[in-house]
Amino acid sequence: MLERRRPLAASLAPYGDVLARWAEAADSLAERRWSAAECAASWRRGAPLTDAFPPPLDAADVEDALGAAMEQLARLDAARAPALQRLADAWDAGAVDAAALLPRAAVIGAPATDASGLAPEVVSWLACTTLRPYLDAWLTGARAHLEAQEWTRGVCPFCGAPPGFIDVIEGGHRRLACHFCGGAWTFARLRCPLCDAEGTGPLYRLKAEGADEGYVVSGCRSCRGYLKELDRRERWNGGPPLLEDWATPHLDVVARREGYRKPVSALLDLLAF
Ligand SMILES: [Zn+2]
Ligand SMILES: [Zn+2]
Repeated sequence: MLERRRPLAASLAPYGDVLARWAEAADSLAERRWSAAECAASWRRGAPLTDAFPPPLDAADVEDALGAAMEQLARLDAARAPALQRLADAWDAGAVDAAALLPRAAVIGAPATDASGLAPEVVSWLACTTLRPYLDAWLTGARAHLEAQEWTRGVCPFCGAPPGFIDVIEGGHRRLACHFCGGAWTFARLRCPLCDAEGTGPLYRLKAEGADEGYVVSGCRSCRGYLKELDRRERWNGGPPLLEDWATPHLDVVARREGYRKPVSALLDLLAF
């Protein structure tokens, strides 16, 4: 990705630290054997799998991962240090725990937001970067069961997080990607995954041109949310959706300028606020 995005390489460098932390965590993660029947039962109820079966989270391990993510953010943006300190204090006092960071509620990590005064976007980044390896390992065994299932919600069927990126695949179908767990699911072409608004009326589409052909800012006039989208038929050599999202911060700048917000912020989005 850095080869393809050479002019951005310096800006994208902090993500290398994130990926290194995830790789380190990968040794000691719990996995789970999921049966097709229990997945189907959960999805029929409209419930993501982690609602009934959240991953076991070792408080000390999560604390290390969260601490590293907070330190990185404080280094990049010193103005957030006091709020991050309040979050650390709330963690030590037991007011915020690992389970509070799971993407279950509409506002991810609400106790952390309340205790620290950090913006929800910041807390959702911290939650995502802390929990991704845990959720990914825990849910890997369930991925194959989704194919035959009907899941029409705009949240991840595996972990319940809002979508992070859109891939357009064969036949023009849309596949939403989850940054929290690495899951993906197909979604209606003409419905907003963030507010369920239907039809072409609310659609706001801004197509990138030139070197970024194939990338689109896909927004919704009803909820003012957006996701970036990549047409994989035009970009067969694109990277994983998470990296494609991270590596296109210039498109986020345009979307923000137009008054749109995305549901799961990346690190560079936070520094631009
Ligand atoms: Zn997920
Ligand atoms: Zn919407």
